[in-house]
Amino acid sequence: MSAQLTDVTARDAGDPLREFRDLFQLRDGLIYLDGNSLGAAPRAAADCVAEAVTNQWGEGLITSWLGAEWSTAPQRIGDKIASILGAKPGEIVAADSTSVNIFKALTAALSLRPDRSVILSEATNFPTDVYMMQGIETFSGGRLKAVTVDPDAVLDRLGDDVAVLLLTQVHYKSGLVRDMAKVTRRAHAKGVLVIWDLSHSAGALPVDLNSSNADFAIGCGYKFLNGGPGAPAFIFVAERHQAAAPVLSGWFGHASPFAFEEDYRPAGGITRFLCGTPQVLGLAALECGVDLMSRVDMAELRRKSLALGDLFIERMELRCGTFGFELVSPRDPALRGSQVSYTHPNAYEIVQALKERDVIGDFRAPDILRFGLTPLYLRYADIAEAIEQLREICLTRAWDKPEYRTRAAVT
Ligand SMILES: *Cc1c(COP(=O)(O)O)cnc(C)c1O
Repeated sequence: MSAQLTDVTARDAGDPLREFRDLFQLRDGLIYLDGNSLGAAPRAAADCVAEAVTNQWGEGLITSWLGAEWSTAPQRIGDKIASILGAKPGEIVAADSTSVNIFKALTAALSLRPDRSVILSEATNFPTDVYMMQGIETFSGGRLKAVTVDPDAVLDRLGDDVAVLLLTQVHYKSGLVRDMAKVTRRAHAKGVLVIWDLSHSAGALPVDLNSSNADFAIGCGYKFLNGGPGAPAFIFVAERHQAAAPVLSGWFGHASPFAFEEDYRPAGGITRFLCGTPQVLGLAALECGVDLMSRVDMAELRRKSLALGDLFIERMELRCGTFGFELVSPRDPALRGSQVSYTHPNAYEIVQALKERDVIGDFRAPDILRFGLTPLYLRYADIAEAIEQLREICLTRAWDKPEYRTRAAVT
């Protein structure tokens, strides 16, 4: 065994999180560096979903709304997510998609700043975040303006015309982490409310919503929370803002849904941020992922995540330094989320060639190779092996095949 291999094997043997890997279904030989896009399946998920289908739905039928506590699942799972994200019970619900929750958070925040007209974000934010802002601008008939600026110019643009700032804490392409407490403080000093998109934060690093004085937050269930494809997302509304009027005033956010009253009357607390019937089967899988994450020491997770990232960057320099990759993630671990990204002119083809060798990363247009680092199921040896495969692919130009050039509909 080479000295390098011994080194990573020893690190895996001493890894305090090593036992978590077995809780996931991962086929032998697969190196999965895409848990930031779709987290791996907890082994328990199949049983949780089967229980929800066979017993709760199959046997219990409609009695399961109460008997199996379906009707309160969004709040119950929300409370569990709250404990991972430094929020209080009653400040988060699990429901709908991230995009829909962005709409809810934006409209609630806007209702708290009726005399201001600008919704601010950075131009390179995840597209759906900006698209949702633009949809609201259109719907407002021009009263509201969706404004996006250069990432470095966000804080300078804060002013008394800005109602709300929508930012993603960990950038989906570069992995750059924003300082939640500092940005929130700067925004509040100008009277601006902040919505944090935690899609690449929840389950990826320690988050402390309350101590950062956060106003609103949203995020995905299917990335680092391992909630399954299309899992319900979550929305956080700080207790002090929960009287805000939700625009998606559906009956599950009503004070008394089964009274079938003729007029909308919002429920108290976070429940008013629900809209329609909870997605029970999706919530069953999500709860497995969240329960698993609840057992994790987030400081330990962060330490390993950064160590995996440091190892990745180090090995890339050593083994793939001459092949034209440029690191776009921060080298400084304090500024880096749980991923590393590189640009390369042949990024798309290289990602396809890696896939063929069972190393799954992803491509983000126009030229980024993105590797998600999920400390619960990745080993140091996996990182070393992935980079050996990448080196092989570059040395032999194995990526240079016509079939790798055709872009798939989903990347
Ligand atoms: C993944 C992601 C989303 C996804 O939104 P959906 O409504 O779940 O499709 C939104 N925002 C950010 C920042 C993301 O990374």
